[in-house]
Amino acid sequence: MKLLSDQIEGYLEGSSWIRKMFETGMVLKKKYGEDAVCDFSLGNPDVPAPAVVGQGLRELADSADKPFAFGYMPNFGYPTLREKLAESVSAEQGVKVSGSDLIITCGAAGAINALYRAILQPGDQVLCPAPYFVEYGFYAKNSGGELVTVPSKPLTFELDLDAIEKAINEKTRVVLINSPNNPTGVIYTTEELKKLAAILDKANEGRERPIFLVADEPYRFLAFDGAEVPSILPLYQYSIVVSSFSKNLSLAGERIGYTLLNPGMEGREHLMAGLVLTNRILGFVNAPAVGQKLLEKALGAQVDKGIYLERRNAMASVLDEGGYAYTMPRGAFYFFPEAPGGDDVKFCAALQEEKILAVPGTGFGFPGYFRLAFCVGVDVIERSREGFKNAMKPFK
Ligand code: PLP
Repeated sequence: MKLLSDQIEGYLEGSSWIRKMFETGMVLKKKYGEDAVCDFSLGNPDVPAPAVVGQGLRELADSADKPFAFGYMPNFGYPTLREKLAESVSAEQGVKVSGSDLIITCGAAGAINALYRAILQPGDQVLCPAPYFVEYGFYAKNSGGELVTVPSKPLTFELDLDAIEKAINEKTRVVLINSPNNPTGVIYTTEELKKLAAILDKANEGRERPIFLVADEPYRFLAFDGAEVPSILPLYQYSIVVSSFSKNLSLAGERIGYTLLNPGMEGREHLMAGLVLTNRILGFVNAPAVGQKLLEKALGAQVDKGIYLERRNAMASVLDEGGYAYTMPRGAFYFFPEAPGGDDVKFCAALQEEKILAVPGTGFGFPGYFRLAFCVGVDVIERSREGFKNAMKPFK
């Protein structure tokens, strides 16, 4: 008996590399003990949430006996949160936005899915630079679309703008970028984004359905060495930002994020009406009430960035000593070094021999590299030092 659709059966068979690494990690941890394995496979923020989160939850508990304390609210979220969020996002983006430009969502993932449901038609394409966050392919397919990827420049991961321009066709409906980037840590420059915007403006000439530029920004807060994350809003009319509080408040399990429409976009009220509807009919209904109320209290706070910075530097020192080629991440919490020998799957298997878990670049649509997530303590990074040196030995 077939219990699943062919599509989901296919997804399960091709199960993601991150999932595979998770399963391998469980086996290794059982065999050698939890502490013996250096697990860099998961981007699950381990840095404690700021104190205001705990305090806020205690206050919420005290008001839980009020009628409708956690009842339904408008599908776009609590109006008071919408207004406060508009203020904080205006400061972040350097563009004045109002509450009506925003919808509160179930994380960035929920935001992208509700957006695609509202704007994609069957056969529409979402263009995305590779390497990319692997869920993007599923999100496009969920709404009848298709993810088309364009390799970024080797090692630096700058956008290959010529290739992007060539890949645009009449089916292109979205160009999706993620900066700071998972898995590379790259931050796109204003120059790159301006050129991208010009390409899209040109492609829009004569079109009835514009190409949207969607910026997925859950790592915006995590930029190192004074780097700025440029906003796409002043650069392109049909731009949309999706983001979440999964990383900056370590609230990944609480599913809270937002979609922001460019306040300069013609017809955005209509697009917002579509988003409010799709957020509802996809079954999200609204973002979690507890998360929203918490956010009203915690907005502006963030986890201690210094912890991630210390880890990034420790990881860089481990890779330098091992002789690995990589581009220093300017943001987010990932490294994406070259796989010695060129075979990323084989090299990740060699790292496993050293009790180190990494994810092959193949899992991000970019073979020849591997991803390390530094959502682990400096002690774990230091413990991996010898293992990284050993795994490199056959290539020296
Ligand atoms: N986009 C990127 C690039 C991510 O790395 C992640 C999570 O790791 C998400 C979106 C989804 O995050 P959220 O928890 O906000 O749904």
